[in-house]
Amino acid sequence: NKYVYFFGNGMAEGAASMRELLGGKGANLAEMTSLGIPVPAGFTISTEVCQLYYENGRSYTDEIVKQVEENLIRLEKAMGHELGNPDNPLFVSVRSGAAISMPGMMETILNLGMNDETVVGFASQTSNERLAWDSYRRFIQMYGSVAKDIPHHDFEEILAALKKEKGVELDTELDAEDLKELVSRYKELYKRVKGEDFPQDTKVQLWGAIDAVFNSWENERAIKYRQINNIKGLKGTAVNVQAMVFGNFGEDSGTGVCFSRDPSTGENVFYGEFLMNAQGEDVVAGIRTPEKLSTLAEKNPEIYRQLEDVKNRLEKHYKDMQDMEFTIEHGKLYILQTRNGKRTGRAAVKIALDMHKEGLISREEAVMRVTPAQIDQLLHPMIAASDRKSNKAIAKGLNASPGAACGKIVFTASEAEKEAEKGEKVILVRKETSPEDIGGMHAAQGILTSTGGMTSHAAVVARGMGKPSVVGCKDVVIDGDSCLISGQSFNKGDWVTIDGGTGEVFAGRLNLVPPAITDELKEFLSWVDEIRLSAKRKNCPEKGFKVRTNADTPEDARKARDFGAEGIGLCRTEHMFFEKGKIEAFREMIIADSEISRKKALEKILPLQKKDFTGIFKEMAGLPVTIRLLDPPLHEFVHMSHSELEELSMTSGIPQDVIRQRIDALKEQNPMLGHRGCRLGITYPEIYEMQAEAILSAACEVAVSGESVIPEIMIPLVGSVKELVYLKERIVAVADRVIASYGATVTYKVGTMIEVPRAALVADKIAEHAEFFSFGTNDLTQMTFGFSRDDVGSFLPDYLKLDMFEVDPFASLDTEGVGQLVALAAQRGRNTRPDIKLGICGEHGGDPSSIEFCYKTGLNYVSCSPYRVPIARLAAAQAVI
Ligand code: ADP
Ligand code: MG
Ligand code: MG
Repeated sequence: NKYVYFFGNGMAEGAASMRELLGGKGANLAEMTSLGIPVPAGFTISTEVCQLYYENGRSYTDEIVKQVEENLIRLEKAMGHELGNPDNPLFVSVRSGAAISMPGMMETILNLGMNDETVVGFASQTSNERLAWDSYRRFIQMYGSVAKDIPHHDFEEILAALKKEKGVELDTELDAEDLKELVSRYKELYKRVKGEDFPQDTKVQLWGAIDAVFNSWENERAIKYRQINNIKGLKGTAVNVQAMVFGNFGEDSGTGVCFSRDPSTGENVFYGEFLMNAQGEDVVAGIRTPEKLSTLAEKNPEIYRQLEDVKNRLEKHYKDMQDMEFTIEHGKLYILQTRNGKRTGRAAVKIALDMHKEGLISREEAVMRVTPAQIDQLLHPMIAASDRKSNKAIAKGLNASPGAACGKIVFTASEAEKEAEKGEKVILVRKETSPEDIGGMHAAQGILTSTGGMTSHAAVVARGMGKPSVVGCKDVVIDGDSCLISGQSFNKGDWVTIDGGTGEVFAGRLNLVPPAITDELKEFLSWVDEIRLSAKRKNCPEKGFKVRTNADTPEDARKARDFGAEGIGLCRTEHMFFEKGKIEAFREMIIADSEISRKKALEKILPLQKKDFTGIFKEMAGLPVTIRLLDPPLHEFVHMSHSELEELSMTSGIPQDVIRQRIDALKEQNPMLGHRGCRLGITYPEIYEMQAEAILSAACEVAVSGESVIPEIMIPLVGSVKELVYLKERIVAVADRVIASYGATVTYKVGTMIEVPRAALVADKIAEHAEFFSFGTNDLTQMTFGFSRDDVGSFLPDYLKLDMFEVDPFASLDTEGVGQLVALAAQRGRNTRPDIKLGICGEHGGDPSSIEFCYKTGLNYVSCSPYRVPIARLAAAQAVI
């Protein structure tokens, strides 16, 4: 078994493709060596060894030890120096590096091989005493703190004290004699803390350092980092042992980091920082201020030219923006690391576009280069970078709807509306929200709730509105007109800032920067659409994979269309009822005591609904609009103030106590499993008939005015085919009558949601009557798991912590379980009716991995909130590729 991979003198046993085994750093050091880039020679101990190290109780097999020793000899030969040989010493760095980069999480030790004898040999060989002692003191410090847990701070204190004694400010101002003194003080510290001398045996040093790197894989910070970033399934870290080059040789030496393009704007400019007479992390440590790369071009044009040449070669080779580390020793350039650079959303888009135009990558590759999350970044305001740096979040909840917002705290929806009317910016802080809060949510800059999950009312509605929102933030405790956030007290009117992209809550008013919808983003998305719309699949008769939107108002419809929506996949009619002027008539309908009085109330609602639909059809001219008939339990509509109750009693002529009785009768134990969806239509067919009439008469009017309309009437919560047949018959009768009365030519479809598990199972029968299916995966997830959407926040965190879920199944479709129902229904539906339209309108419609599943399952489209449309377009194209 091969455990160790050598690189040096233009030859390498590893390659970039071996990153799982060699870690990113090791794989790229090997690759660069093969490319003839100047890389100090060395060897990589594989990630497999890390795994074995832990399996064997933190020890190595003889075979591993043997291979390391053999490769050390090889390295010594290649370099013409020997580890620990005072006359001709070799020095090495021992560097960590996993398959996925975890910046700053693990350990690196430089200058290994320094001891009381080699330091002298090195000094005479290089004729540079200062360099030798500077390297020695750095080694003791790194080895002591990294491998032996001596607090870094203790070393820093000694250094600071010495500088003070010598009256100097910079490390570089200490001379060789000072550094000798420093070494002896460091050694004293080492002995005091560890109870033994600093090891002079260089083999002991080497294995101590290798242990330290492997141990760092399981240190607290690294574990936490992997948790936060959801990094799983790695074997461990590799260890790179590499010959040292010295950037601290003097003023003709230095070290730096650079990017082949600007990582924040994406511009094709060489960008970086460096320090002369410095080593390793000095550049990022902030002790001295590093210089810009342009200064290197002036100071040392020859080195700059070499560096630029390496940059160009590496970028051409990797075909991606590179983040590189380099060291200059005595005027000679060495590259110590390269990797694909991290970048902002803006830079990602620009680099992808440019690299395709430069002929480096194909259009498909360009489209794969930008993540949906990076697009998301571009569509929302963000906290200014400087403010983010200087402020710490005081609490963290679920990142329900991205974007940052700041405002004065209000605790009720009506306050939010009142303050907004006065021109105040407010953040609506509530335990939870309900449909009556819509107005206040709309008026607020952002929403913060203390309970609820990713599909709670606040989360869904906020995403729909594109409003920043943090939900389920347990550290928020509301008490009347004030609240505690992580113990800190806030009154109504105090400023807070929330970041719905991260779930963070900040005290006070932070600066925000607006989103930028640039020409570049537009161009990028046009490539995305080209790929997406030309897709052909075996399990879907229609060409292309479409993206629709969930929109309830003409304004949302317009916004979504601007963002590229190709229709409405879900228009929820009930949201229209919450507006003033409509809710009153609707309440009259709900409390009506006979069919006649109910119909009278419905007659008042009809023209209002019709007007809403007209607006939406106009905005969506030429595109399909799926309208869902009334879905929520009626009880949600009758939360009333006293004066509203009085008024209702007056207009309806029903005494207040009778109204109260009727409202009480509507209460249910489990409203989400109760009298809602098509069950309402079964009990009160006249409601759905009124809605059908409103939809079709609006459609006819718009059609008559010359626009094309494509209405799709959707019946929610169907579980058996008889429900559908019963309701469809009535809807079709009304629709045909309306169309005839207008003398218009409007074609419409009647279909159903698939959101009750039973519906998925009998989808073949349902498809005999349904012309389309829309998967309501919020309810389908809820009913398949038996998890309440609104209460899941109380136990989901435990499930996630225990790895029972990799992700929240309400945020990302559970393809293993719920996905089976979707796939089964899709297939059974298509068997019965090959051209049946299939779509998804749950929250999952905007989630990239769920979108990929929908593509594979043969769905015609996904539908998501307006602000997620560009993200879904990208995710859809990436699913196609
Ligand atoms: P990290 O993963 O934290 O960046 P590295 O292993 O890349 O740690 O090491 C940090 C820095 O140490 C490098 O950028 C480089 O400046 C310096 N370094 C590492 N190995 C060597 C070496 N063989 N010669 C000179 N400097 C080195
Ligand atoms: Mg590095
Ligand atoms: Mg539903």
